[in-house]
Amino acid sequence: MRAKIILFSTGGTIAMRYSPESGGATPALSGSELIASLPACRFPVEVREFSNIPSPHMTPKLMLDLARQVEQVLSAKTTAGVVVTHGTDTLEETAYFLDLYVRADKALCLTGAMRDADELCPDGPKNLLCALKVAASPEAAKKGCLVVMNEEIHAAREVTKVHSSSLKTFASPFWGPLGHADVDRLIFRRAPLGRQTLHPENIEEDVHLIKCAAGCDDFLLHSLTEKKAKGIVVEGMGRGNVPPLVFNGIKEALAAGIPVVLASRCLSGRTLDHYAYAGGAKKLHDAGVILGGEISGPKARIKLMLALGLTRDPDRLAEYFDKP
Ligand code: ASP
Repeated sequence: MRAKIILFSTGGTIAMRYSPESGGATPALSGSELIASLPACRFPVEVREFSNIPSPHMTPKLMLDLARQVEQVLSAKTTAGVVVTHGTDTLEETAYFLDLYVRADKALCLTGAMRDADELCPDGPKNLLCALKVAASPEAAKKGCLVVMNEEIHAAREVTKVHSSSLKTFASPFWGPLGHADVDRLIFRRAPLGRQTLHPENIEEDVHLIKCAAGCDDFLLHSLTEKKAKGIVVEGMGRGNVPPLVFNGIKEALAAGIPVVLASRCLSGRTLDHYAYAGGAKKLHDAGVILGGEISGPKARIKLMLALGLTRDPDRLAEYFDKP
């Protein structure tokens, strides 16, 4: 018997249509309807209707539930690979969650669409067809969770949404895509190296993200310290530097025992303890901040949620970040 592809449909624009009652696009199509809309689906597909939500409604708890289900179906001999359809707004966060959590040596990918299913020339069917090709391909296995959009194949760790409306919205800044889904075959040119697995029983959801801007103060950090948040990610500038008042807020959070991870608001590159002025990443690191490495703020938050499900020890937490 030919192994099947399991499609988890979660919602997003790929499954949306204009609703006259709401005056805009809203969730409409099921996973089965998405498959039925493909003109030429030559893959055996089994659909799991996971949810039908816009992706700003996706939560880390739902991601954990999805990751468990994905891992379970991938362990079956009858499964060739998995496709998850997802809204593009938070797709990179769910993709990174699955990348870290799911232990499997079969293909796993996410796709979505920028145009509603009832718009002129919707991109959803083509994206879904490309994703099915990727999920069916042994070449796509052991590359972690992939993102397939606009005929490009990206690594979950590197990919991000870079345009609010263009069909070419997903990019892996600096690194570029892993490959291309051509009409007749997939073309891979590289594989993601240094992937990590974090597989806790549960996650810590009370983890927050603060983005720095010129002149910002410690108000948000102070509020999080007061509420006894369980983790904070600060998206600093450049190598991970922050304004002086933010530095004060970070020290206050650390003194209260809250782990703080530093990411960069740049689209790519690592955080590094280079600058030693007040708020420079060296001062932050010396004070006990964990350098996040190359991942974005939203992805560092996902990783910290998973890591806090494994340990609360600051030294052990730091070992999960900034891996080569
Ligand atoms: N707002 C939509 C969502 O993320 C956008 C999309 O799917 O492209 O659900």
